[in-house]
Amino acid sequence: MRILALSDTHNLHRSITVPMEGDLLIHAGDFSFFFEDMLVIRDFNAWLGELRFRHKIVVPGNHERIMYERPELRRLITNATLLINESVTIEGVMLWGSPVTCDDEAFGCSTADERRALYASIPDGTDIVITHGPPYGVCDEEFRAKGIHRGCPELLAAIQRVNPQVHIFGHVHASRGAKRIGETTFINAAMLGWSGDLENKPISFEFPLGR
Ligand SMILES: [Zn+2]
Repeated sequence: MRILALSDTHNLHRSITVPMEGDLLIHAGDFSFFFEDMLVIRDFNAWLGELRFRHKIVVPGNHERIMYERPELRRLITNATLLINESVTIEGVMLWGSPVTCDDEAFGCSTADERRALYASIPDGTDIVITHGPPYGVCDEEFRAKGIHRGCPELLAAIQRVNPQVHIFGHVHASRGAKRIGETTFINAAMLGWSGDLENKPISFEFPLGR
């Protein structure tokens, strides 16, 4: 299965050069800029509809926090499966997605205990975990602030328990990239750079990963 991962496009989805075909497209959140412009949200959904991927998954980010307060807005995304603290199985591949981040109160779970309880619900055997925020210490360093980690310790502990093949996230734009630790390949798929320009390309890979 050919997977294309991207995140943090912040209204600039039309400027991305995306391979127009594939098996599964995964957007790990922050497709908008604080959900300010409804036309752009509708256009994001239209853009998703134009991409010829057999399956599409979107996990909202903190910029889409209004989807937590007003769940009816989730219906704006009709051309992808929206994952909000839940699982989906696609062609035998089990995925779980969550918009929760640890450095703001988006989508609830503002305390470590709440996040621990949430991440305890990630089913064993999950192949791909998608979260908007990174796990603590992995591709989560802020720009020009080496050693300042914005990732979530509770999420890291859950990933170590579940041991997925792939963990996809974004949120910390400066740490875009991939890293393999143990059995898990971590992918920070942020598209926007520090400057706010679209600096990066989506990350494409074959799943299952070659071992
Ligand atoms: Zn974010």
